[in-house]
Order: sequence, then structure tokens, then C-alpha cells
Amino acid sequence: MSEIKDTCCAEREPKMKIHTFNKNSMGQNIYLCHCEETNEGILIDAGCNTADENAIMALIHENSIIIKAILLTHGHYDHITAAARLKSLTNAEIYSHVSEKQLLENPELNLSCLIRREISVTPDKLLNDGDVFHFGNISLKVLHTPGHTPGGVCYYYKKTAVPLSEGSESGIQSCCSGGVYTDEVGDAKHRAPRPVSVAYERAWGRAPLDSSLFSGDTLFKGSIGRTDFPLSDHDKMMRNISAKLLTLPDETVVYPGHGDSTSIGREKKSNPFLR
Ligand SMILES: [Zn+2]
Ligand SMILES: [Zn+2]
Repeated sequence: MSEIKDTCCAEREPKMKIHTFNKNSMGQNIYLCHCEETNEGILIDAGCNTADENAIMALIHENSIIIKAILLTHGHYDHITAAARLKSLTNAEIYSHVSEKQLLENPELNLSCLIRREISVTPDKLLNDGDVFHFGNISLKVLHTPGHTPGGVCYYYKKTAVPLSEGSESGIQSCCSGGVYTDEVGDAKHRAPRPVSVAYERAWGRAPLDSSLFSGDTLFKGSIGRTDFPLSDHDKMMRNISAKLLTLPDETVVYPGHGDSTSIGREKKSNPFLR
């Protein structure tokens, strides 16, 4: 039976619960996140063995969680081995960054040929940098951080004082529908503000009560992702870590694709690859 670690994201106002599953051969983490208020949830990555799969489904059934999506951080085989199976068990669609489709569908690029399997995953929905995915009363922002792979992303959660459902009249989807909208103001410095910016500022512009980052294989506790794979780009990954991850609040808890969780502040201070 897989060990399940429960982490509550907000001590004062519990909202999103994070469960970690990692009893598989490569030590990769699958995160099941769910909104305690609505029981809607998501899976982040889908590389697991039968024991993890059984533990995930048991947790889903015991807590009556409705899985709205399987969000992939990237397409390497260790993160997608059970994607098709979990999709059929949960009826959830698979999401990846638009630039990861080629790698996901190609066993040589996603490295599944190294384990003598031909895994190919076609995502149902494609994400872009700055998109915001909603499930229950929770929102995750897509941060495109290519380098380890071309379409690698991190998912950023920032709890705010204003319920996101209040922004629905400005273009954010219903808090109960699950879905994604393109962030029109993520590059506000470069583009004219749009009406949705009001909702965006209400959702993201305030000081966070707490925040979390699902960093895939881009940033680990004390390490960074490998860039010796086909389509990897070391310089690009380092630029993205600096520009998009190390600029997050120091207290942001980092949930990586492998290994233990950490924080942005801790990695800034002690990660030898970031000096
Ligand atoms: Zn990887
Ligand atoms: Zn990995």
C-alpha cells in the first residue's frame, strides 16, 4: 500500500489538499489536489505503478473526489506511464503544454523506448503560458518553463483573499465547471489591459496567504532537471528558473516531479545549481 502524505495548503482557511503518491520505480511524484469545499480535484502527472494507482483510486472513492483533469508537467515516460489508465478510470481529460505534444506522442522523445515500451499520449487539451486552470474554488496558473523539455510547465497555486468565483462575470469560468482560460494580462507590461484584468487582479494581484508550485522536473530540492535529453536546452531552463520560479515568493512551497518538497526561499539559498 502506498504511503499517502497529506498536506494542507492553508492553515487558517484550509482549501486545497495535496496528496503525494510516489511508490514507483523512478520515485516520481503524482499529486492529487482537491478543493475541500467542492471535492473537485486534479491529478498532476500520471507516472505510477499499480500500487499507486490503487491508492489514488481508493482516495478518490473514499472522499468522493471528482477528478476534473490530469495536468502533465511534461511528457517524459516516468510521468505518463499510467496516463491512459488514469484517464479511463477517472474520465478526466489530459492536459499538457502545446509545445509538449510532439514529445508526448513519440516514444523516442519521451524516452519510453529506454524501458522497451512504446508509450504515446495524445493530450485532450493544450495549455499555453499564463493559462489558469480552475477546479472547485482553486485556480492553478500555467508557467511555461521549457528547457528540460520544450513544453515543460510548472503549475502555480496562490491562495488569495477573494474567491475566484467572484470573477466569473469577467471571463473566468464558473468555479464548479473546471476549465481553462487564457490569461490576457500575464504580459500586461507588453499588452494593453483587457477587461478581464479586473478579475485577474482580484484573483492574483493581492498578497498571497500561501502559495505552492508544482515544478515537474525543472526544479528539485537541491537540484535541477537534466538537460542532456533530446530537445533539452540548458540555457533556456536556467533562464526560465530565474525569471519565472525564483521570482515567486520565498515561502512558496515547491512540489517537484521527484523527491521531497522544498521552498523557493530554501532553493535560492542552498541549491548549488542556482549559484
Ligand atoms: Zn523529465
Ligand atoms: Zn521525471
